[in-house]
Amino acid sequence: MTMSLSIVVPVYNEVENIDTLVHQIMEHCAPMNRRWELILVDDGSRDGSTEKLEAAAERHQGHIRAVILNRNYGQHSAIMCGFGRARGDIVVTLDADLQNPPSEIPRLVDAIEQGNDVVGTIRRDRQDSFFRRFASARINWMVKKATGVAMQDYGCMLRAYRRSVVDAMLQCRERSTFIPVLANMFAKRATELEVSHAERAAGDSKYSLWRLVNLQFDLLTSMTTTPLRMLSWFGVAVAIGGFGFGLLLLIGRFVFGADWAAEGVFTLFAVLFIFIGAQFVGMGLLGEYLGRVYSDVRGRPRYFVDHVVGEGLEGSPARETARQAARERQVQS
Ligand code: UDP
Ligand code: MG
Repeated sequence: MTMSLSIVVPVYNEVENIDTLVHQIMEHCAPMNRRWELILVDDGSRDGSTEKLEAAAERHQGHIRAVILNRNYGQHSAIMCGFGRARGDIVVTLDADLQNPPSEIPRLVDAIEQGNDVVGTIRRDRQDSFFRRFASARINWMVKKATGVAMQDYGCMLRAYRRSVVDAMLQCRERSTFIPVLANMFAKRATELEVSHAERAAGDSKYSLWRLVNLQFDLLTSMTTTPLRMLSWFGVAVAIGGFGFGLLLLIGRFVFGADWAAEGVFTLFAVLFIFIGAQFVGMGLLGEYLGRVYSDVRGRPRYFVDHVVGEGLEGSPARETARQAARERQVQS
C-alpha cells in the first residue's frame, strides 16, 4: 500500500502567501496518487492569516485542516503541534513564505519510501542575506561538533520524516526544541537532497537578530551540556597557569632576589589564579549535576521501538514481555 502523506506548515503573519501556497501544494500533491492532508498551523497571526486558513480548510474539506493556536509560540512549537495532528505515514514540513518550493515534495516523499527515516534538504543558490548565511553556517558547524550528526543544512525546514521519527519527537517533552536536530537523534537512515531556494514571496522574515540568537541557544542546549563542562576545563587551565606562574616566581626569587618579584605582589596574583581556577572547577562540577538534572527533566524517551514481531507464550514467563510489546505497540498507533 502506498504511504499516506501529511504536510505541516507553520504560519505566522503570512496573509499574502497563503493562497499561492495552498494552490501550489494542492497542485503537486493531488497527482501523487496517495492519501494526503495539509495541516496549516496558525501561530498566533494578527494580519488576517487566520481567517484565510479557516476559509481554505472550509473549501477543501477532507484535505486541509487549519489548527489555530491562541498566540505566538514560535515556529518549532507550531510544527510540533502540527506533528501532533498529522496522521500520515510520511510527514513533510515546509515554510509558508514559498522559499521552499512545494514542487520538491514528491522527491522528498520518494526518498522516504526508499528507506530513509529523515530527509533533509540543502539549499541550492541560497536567497538569504549574508548575515543569515553566516549565522546558519555557524549553526551547522556547532551541530556537527556537538552531535556528530553530519548534515550540511539544518536551517532549511523543507524536510520529510517517517511516522516513527515523528512519534519519537512527540514524546520529547522539553520546551525548547530544534526539530531537524531532534529528528536526527531518532533516525537510523538520513539523507539530504539538493533543492532550489527562492526569495521570500511576500512579507518579512519573522526572525530578528534577537530571535536568531535565541534559536542558537535552543539548538545548543537541546543538544549538549558541553558549555557547562567547559567551565571546568577553563578552571583547570587557569589553575595550572597560576601554579606555573607561582613556580616561575619562586625560581626567579631565588635567582634574582626579592626585588625582582615586586616584593611578593606577583606571588599574590599566582595564588589568586589558583583559587579562581579552583572556583571554576567547582562551578563546572555543579554544571555536571545541572546537566544531568536537565537531561532528566527533559524526559526524552531512552529508546523508541520501531515495531515488534511475535509474542511470548501465554502463561509462561514470556507473557509479561508480550503484554509489554502490546502496550508499546499501542503507544505507537
Ligand atoms: N513562523 C511561525 N512562527 C514564528 C515565526 C515564524 O510559525 O514565530 C513561520 C513563518 O510563518 C514561516 C516559517 O515559520 O512559515 C519560517 O519563518 P521565516 O520565513 O520568517 O524564517 P526565515 O525563512 O527567515 O528563516
Ligand atoms: Mg523564510
